Amino acid sequence: MKRAQLTPVFRFAPSPNGFLHLGHAASALINSALARRYGARLLLRIEDIDKGRTREAFVDAIFEDLEWLGLTWEQPVLRQSRRLETYAAAAKRLADLGFLYPCFASRAEINEAAVQCQSRLDLDGAPIYPGLHRDLSAVDVERRISAGEPFSMRLNMERAVKWVRERTEGEISYQEFDDEDGRQAVVVDPMRWGDVVLQRKDVPTSYHLSVVVDDGDQEVTHVVRGMDLKPATAIHRLLQELLGFAAPVYHHHALIRDALGNKLSKSDAATSLRSLREAGWSPADVIGRLGLEGLSG
Ligand code: GLU
Repeated sequence: MKRAQLTPVFRFAPSPNGFLHLGHAASALINSALARRYGARLLLRIEDIDKGRTREAFVDAIFEDLEWLGLTWEQPVLRQSRRLETYAAAAKRLADLGFLYPCFASRAEINEAAVQCQSRLDLDGAPIYPGLHRDLSAVDVERRISAGEPFSMRLNMERAVKWVRERTEGEISYQEFDDEDGRQAVVVDPMRWGDVVLQRKDVPTSYHLSVVVDDGDQEVTHVVRGMDLKPATAIHRLLQELLGFAAPVYHHHALIRDALGNKLSKSDAATSLRSLREAGWSPADVIGRLGLEGLSG
């Protein structure tokens, strides 16, 4: 698929389920510096599909913390919670092509079946879905849906990968770019994720589906995010091919760690940007702590 536009597009896409910490600051600052260097547009996207964990106070805090860091972004800011119909439509396209199937199983049932059949672990360290409801008969599906049983929609990974491989000469890959604009092809194997959920039981989308649909619709050309999301790029590339979106190039930056070498987490108040600010840190201190002094536009 060809792009009509020439100006590159970057995006920073936090989830408002906690305060931004140093890791988010790194992503946001690297996005901003590279966007400036490339003469690109920079978008901010609020990834708030998780109703249970999203708080408006965290959304407000994202704007405040990023402004404090001196960052600017384009308006309007897209909020994923406003686009549920768009994601549902994308899922329907995939379902109509036979790539999705409903799964009624509970987490406990899935875990038990995974233990029974000794499922391998996926790239997040969770057992791969053991295929429990992949082959339910149409009659069974109809009966359970009519009875009001909640269900998620899962991707039939084998079918999807086969379809894409037939169109990409057997290989699924993406380009990883570095600070110097060097590029490297990375070959991925989405099968290592198994039949991922694309529509959750509680919301007609998932992180993977929304991020791909939004990057596609917003014509994002450069995705800059933490190394922890690098394995998920395999799923994102697959979905881009299935849905007919152009592939962005990716830069997965090193994760920021605490003094003990642990990954930072949202529940750790000590590294939140607001607590550092309250403790007297300046934006320059944050940049120094992250070792990003050299990264200028
Ligand atoms: N919303 C995701 C997060 O906060 C990041 C999504 C992405 O950059 O692809 O972890």
